[in-house]
Amino acid sequence: MVMGSLNQEVETVVIGSGPGGYVAALRLADLGQDVMLIEERDRPGGVCLLEGCIPSKSLINAVELSEAAREAERLGLTFSDLKLDHRKLREWTDGVVATLSDGIRALLNKRGVELVHGHARFQDAHSLMIEGGGTVSFANCIIATGSSLNRLPEGIDSSVWSSADALELKEVPGTLLVVGGGYIGLELGLVYAGLGSEVSVVEFLSRLLMGADHDLVDVMVKQVEKRTHELMLDSRVVSIKPSGGGFDVQIEHEGQTLEKRYDQVLVAIGRRPNTEDLGLEHTRVVVDDKGVIETDGECRTAEPHIYAVGDVAAGPMLAHKASREGKIAAEAIAGHKVEFDNRAIPAVVFTDPEISWCGLTERRAADLGTEINVGRFPLSALGRARAIGHTEGFVKIISEPGTDLILGVGIVGTHASELISEGALAIEMGATLADLTDTIHPHPTLSEALMEAAEVAAGTAVHVHRPGK
Ligand code: FAD
Repeated sequence: MVMGSLNQEVETVVIGSGPGGYVAALRLADLGQDVMLIEERDRPGGVCLLEGCIPSKSLINAVELSEAAREAERLGLTFSDLKLDHRKLREWTDGVVATLSDGIRALLNKRGVELVHGHARFQDAHSLMIEGGGTVSFANCIIATGSSLNRLPEGIDSSVWSSADALELKEVPGTLLVVGGGYIGLELGLVYAGLGSEVSVVEFLSRLLMGADHDLVDVMVKQVEKRTHELMLDSRVVSIKPSGGGFDVQIEHEGQTLEKRYDQVLVAIGRRPNTEDLGLEHTRVVVDDKGVIETDGECRTAEPHIYAVGDVAAGPMLAHKASREGKIAAEAIAGHKVEFDNRAIPAVVFTDPEISWCGLTERRAADLGTEINVGRFPLSALGRARAIGHTEGFVKIISEPGTDLILGVGIVGTHASELISEGALAIEMGATLADLTDTIHPHPTLSEALMEAAEVAAGTAVHVHRPGK
């Protein structure tokens, strides 16, 4: 619905229909609240559905299928004439996004949540002005306005691709430079490498995926190096200028300035919270110098009736963290005793092989000086991994010496994205190594690797030999 000049009163208004906002709105409606959801785009779903998690994974799946078809030759399966039609793939991805967005709209309709389209700004702590006409006054509000791409540094022409442009799949450039070695740059870089582009990656820091443990990243990097033209670490892009249908790029590396040329450039240099154009100055909501809204354990801001969830609030910018916070804020508004007390927010990088981790990492333990016990189990020793021909990678379980409490899990290898949930559950439940080793895992499955890694940590492993144990 688009508002005319309408003044409405609702119990709770939610701004933003991403995985934080729409989940909060649905939960609020189930808790008996009268809810309005305001979204400035013409479809619900937010960055996650429209230009993030879902379209990127849909493209990654297509590229993985084509890689699998190529690799199948060693199993005696030969596919002749394998072609990837990027236009058809775009139609497929658009269809996936449209179906899911329609699904959200239907769920909102069924719950009686009013979806209003327009940009919302606070007029004061109890009312919003919606662009295109209309004001709404509320008793409670949840801000779930998400994040946008960081502003481009000086010297970088604005005609370069953002992740949203790359996901549109308008063309497959001959050569592509990805600026930024975080998960978004790597995932999309590998998509284009799979589609046939010659991909180079430039990263300012000395390593890719700085937040993850090095041993996990190193396994992935070995594979990524095979699919990409060049990985440039410790390198800074000084300028990107369009010329002759491509881009001239200057890169500083070890005191030298390299002159390069690419058909296309994708800039994936991080995201910032959408708090700038919200009228927050008319409220007492506190925003830090990075634009992040300060909240407490109930996702409540400094205005006790205004909440903030998802990418606008502190913590990792991930869809599942946004949804969890959305539920907490909704339940807090309904008077439930709730808190965001999660100990494990899983992180997943959908490269090939995938990386996932949750809870304590080895890096963090070293920074904190925390003593840990680590059990690693290589996928090469696992029957299922051998059977499906994906033996690169391992699972590691980090536990507390003495109590055997599971503190962290890290995985690199095929289906790491699916396997990490068992680790997250173990940490949330306060499980010990014995809980994992004594749980019967079906054979032959990849999930056995978690049990095996716990056995290595406990010193009871039979499938790997640990001298001295
Ligand atoms: P968003 O999803 O950003 O939604 C916010 C909504 O608010 C938007 O629809 C916006 O239009 C609307 N809005 C903003 N301001 C206003 C206003 N003033 N008035 C009205 N409406 C407004 N996360 C994962 O967990 N897994 C992944 O695999 C993953 N892949 C990603 C891949 C890419 C390429 C990108 C860019 C992101 C990815 N993410 C992934 C991150 C994930 O998309 C975000 O963490 C998630 O979308 C945050 O949800 P949110 O509800 O906070 O905000």
